[in-house]
Amino acid sequence: MEVSPSVVWRNKPYRYRLEVRRCPKCGRAFREEVEVCPKCNERTERVRMAGRGKLLSWAKVCQVPEGFEDFSPLYFGLVELEDGSRIIARLTDVLEEPKIGMEMEAVLRKVRADGSTGLIEYAIFFRPAF
Ligand SMILES: [Zn+2]
Repeated sequence: MEVSPSVVWRNKPYRYRLEVRRCPKCGRAFREEVEVCPKCNERTERVRMAGRGKLLSWAKVCQVPEGFEDFSPLYFGLVELEDGSRIIARLTDVLEEPKIGMEMEAVLRKVRADGSTGLIEYAIFFRPAF
């Protein structure tokens, strides 16, 4: 699985700061840098999503892509944030099976280090909140 630096760069506001662009008219949120809502033709504004929420569902992935062997198994979760938006993200610090409805909080974690470029990739993960 190749992630080019340009893709990482393009997704940076979302990946690092949980920022999205949101249409002020219909409320639709975009992870990408969408300047104008395709539905309303309204200028979107940059907003920061809430950093806490509840776990709605989750999945455990044992068949991990190449380069992620150290992180096996991977957990992914659908989290409903306090501001009502929903997000799918990797879960971290999972010590036992996640429970539906549990409180989660966003944390910045290393995804992997690219040995050839020395680039370390970070992303937003969710972990159980205490
Ligand atoms: Zn809209």
